[in-house]
Amino acid sequence: MTVVGLDDTDSRERGMCTTYVAATIARALQREGASVSRLLLVRLNPAVEYKTRGNAALAIHTDASPAVAFNLAREHLSDLAETADERTHPGLVVTGDDPDAVPDEIAAFTTDAIRDHLEIADARELCTRHDYQTWHVGDGRGRIGALAAIGAWNARSEWTYEHISYREPERWGTPREVDTESVFTAAESAYPTVWDTVDRSEYDPVCVPHTPGPILHGIRGDDAEAVRTVAEHIESEPVASSQLFVTNQGTDAHLRDARDESLDTAQDGYAYRLEGRVATEPETRRGGHVFVTLEDVVDGEDTATTAGADTGDDRSRLECAAFEPTKRFRDHVRALRVGDRLTACGEVSTGTLKLEKFAVRDLIDTERVTPLCPDCERTMKSAGRNQGYRCRDCGTTAPGKREVPLERTLDVGWYEVPPCARRHIAKPLVRGGFDGPTHPER
Ligand code: ATP
Repeated sequence: MTVVGLDDTDSRERGMCTTYVAATIARALQREGASVSRLLLVRLNPAVEYKTRGNAALAIHTDASPAVAFNLAREHLSDLAETADERTHPGLVVTGDDPDAVPDEIAAFTTDAIRDHLEIADARELCTRHDYQTWHVGDGRGRIGALAAIGAWNARSEWTYEHISYREPERWGTPREVDTESVFTAAESAYPTVWDTVDRSEYDPVCVPHTPGPILHGIRGDDAEAVRTVAEHIESEPVASSQLFVTNQGTDAHLRDARDESLDTAQDGYAYRLEGRVATEPETRRGGHVFVTLEDVVDGEDTATTAGADTGDDRSRLECAAFEPTKRFRDHVRALRVGDRLTACGEVSTGTLKLEKFAVRDLIDTERVTPLCPDCERTMKSAGRNQGYRCRDCGTTAPGKREVPLERTLDVGWYEVPPCARRHIAKPLVRGGFDGPTHPER
């Protein structure tokens, strides 16, 4: 077997897409009489600054000889890659190793490429040591993704599918003609095996991209046959070609588990799963972005039950945000109260965790309010520092605030951003496997 890894072929302005380059190479290999057992679409660290859009890298598993595969792939890459864009740095890496037999250190490189930041030299050194054939243009940054794609089959065990349909080349850059109604009908028929095809509340066919590239639509799900069937039921302009990809999309592979660590572990450029206690009331700021601050939960601390109960110490805090494009997800964040216990997931950027999903672990169920006068039922006033409350008209007094039941609109369990705001790698709740009840968005 031979594994061909490639990355970094597209440009934000000019279009193109590495999935298309990989599909083209796969077809060329088949024309040469080789068989192609699968194409992998691997999403790498979404926080990487060099990415064009979704930080995708591709691998082709074929029985062509490494030499034939390398030459064909190089030909197509130099032909198709948008190297006129100086930020495009294609990379190609080829190995004669079986995909299952790729060494562990290459698989470890893949895991790092998904969760960490790597240097071009790291990829170069590994390729030399393992005698992998490489080719690149520009600074060859694409070799990082190309090598990560080679290690992916051994690094990951959870896989999903995407069936991508491509446009006729003469239509690239023009508005896509896709019948939205047919997308919704097809999506409904295969949900939840097929997910993130549409956003029902926004009436958005999210499987149809808006970028200038060759993709007409991409249908994602847990079953290869089901994604193909949904794609076939979509009415649209002619489909020039299509390709099935095995992917790590929808798996949360990017999240580092830091649930047992302090919130001050969180660093810019990484994505986490973290535990915290809501420390501030949620705040909607200009632009409709909603912010809430979490603080560390201290070991052995009792479950907080009362809103507004300040811990009063200087434990670590982390600001979390639900930005405007996350739409109705912001209502769940706005419904949080000081004292709620959460698991929060997302990428940290400039000190703020951009929420992708969160689990409510404990909801506070009472709040402390200023007492009412038992005679006139008006709110009492403070009688001075540490002196309780009194009613100026009736002269009644109360020693302090009183606790009242708090109406909550949130339930315990997982909440997520809607499909229209989902990152490629983020796991939709409907896929299951979460440690608690889920409230999936569709
Ligand atoms: P394309 O469709 O071309 O693949 P993209 O959004 O996936 O677009 P790329 O153009 O591939 O983005 O750019 C990402 C670049 O960052 C690639 O050169 C890739 O090798 C590199 N890269 C990916 N992951 C990492 C990482 N963890 N650390 C450093 N560089 C990375």
